[in-house]
Amino acid sequence: MSEVTVNTEWLSDCSGCHIAIVDLHEKILNLLQAIKIQRCPVLTDIKDYPHASVGLVSGAIRNEHDRHAAQAMRDSCDIVLAWGSCAVFGGPAGAGNIHTPAEIAAAVYLDNKTTIPSPPPSREVSPLESVVSPLDTVIEVDLYLPGCPPHPLFVFEALSALVEGRQPEVSRRSVCAKCKRRMEKSEVAAVRSNSDGIPDAEQCFLSQGYSCMGSVTIDRCLAPCPSNGVPCTGCAGATMQILTEPNRDIRTEIADRMSRLTRIGREDIIASLERSAKSHYSYTMATAMIGNKPTFHIKKWIEDEQADFEAGREL
Ligand code: SF4
Ligand code: SF4
Ligand code: SF4
Repeated sequence: MSEVTVNTEWLSDCSGCHIAIVDLHEKILNLLQAIKIQRCPVLTDIKDYPHASVGLVSGAIRNEHDRHAAQAMRDSCDIVLAWGSCAVFGGPAGAGNIHTPAEIAAAVYLDNKTTIPSPPPSREVSPLESVVSPLDTVIEVDLYLPGCPPHPLFVFEALSALVEGRQPEVSRRSVCAKCKRRMEKSEVAAVRSNSDGIPDAEQCFLSQGYSCMGSVTIDRCLAPCPSNGVPCTGCAGATMQILTEPNRDIRTEIADRMSRLTRIGREDIIASLERSAKSHYSYTMATAMIGNKPTFHIKKWIEDEQADFEAGREL
C-alpha cells in the first residue's frame, strides 16, 4: 500500500476539530503507520501546501484568508474532506449571520464587559465578510464529516477508509439511536427551559417538555449529551431528512414529537422553539440547505423576540 500523505488546514474555527486528533489516543499510532502528516497547523509551522493525497479542512469561510487557504488545499490535495460542522455547515459562527460584521466587531472589541475596549484589528487580520459560508461554497468537497468536533470513532473510520481507498462507513441515524432515554407518553403540560428543575435521568427530554435536538440531529457523537443529563443542541447538524426535504424543519419535527409525547400543544412548542431559534439553528443556519428552506424565518423570529422583549411582554 502506498503511503497516504495528509495536509490539514483550519479556517475560521475554534481549533477543536484539530485538537480532536489527540482524542484518537493510541489509535493515532495505527494511523501513523499508514499516513504521513505533512502539514498541520497544530503540529508544524509549514506555511506552504505540498502535494498530498488527502486534505482535511476544518472551519468555515469568513474572510479572504480563508478563501485563499481553502483554494490552496483544493489545489494541493487529491481528496478534500470537510472536517467538522464549521466546514460542513458554517458551524456555530453561522449564528453571526444575523448580525453585521460591524455589530460583531463592536460586541467583541468595544462593548465587551470582560475586556479593555480596543479598536478591532484592521491590518493583521483580513476583514470579516458579511456572512459565514460553508467550505463547499468556495471549493469542491469530496467528503463531509460533520460534528463539533466529530467523535474519534468517526474520525478514525474516515481516515482509515481514505487510507484503504474505500468509502467511510458512517451511520445515517439520529442521535436518538444511541441515546438510552425512554421516549414515552407523559402528562407534562408546559414547555420547560433548561433552568426549570432537574430533568429525570432516564426519560426522554421531549417526554419531559425540554427541547432536545437528538431526533433531528445526525449521529456523529454517540449521544454524549443526553447520556450525561444535557439535551442535545444539534452540534453535528441536521439529519438527512431535514437537510433534503424542503418542508421538514427542526422546529416542526420537534413540535410533532413533543406534542405526541406530552400534553403540550404543538403551536406552543413551535412558539417556544422560535423564541430560542438562535440556539437551535446555530450550527447549520449558514448552509443553504437550511437557510433556503421555505419554513426557515430566523430573522423574523428574532425580530419578534426582540419586539416582545422591548415591549416588556413575557418571553
Ligand atoms: S466544528 Fe466545532 S470543534 Fe470543530 S472547529 Fe468548528 S466549532 Fe470547533
Ligand atoms: S430526543 Fe433527546 S433525550 Fe429523547 S431519545 Fe432523542 S436524544 Fe434522547
Ligand atoms: S448529543 Fe447533540 S449536542 Fe451533544 S455532541 Fe451529540 S450532536 Fe452535539
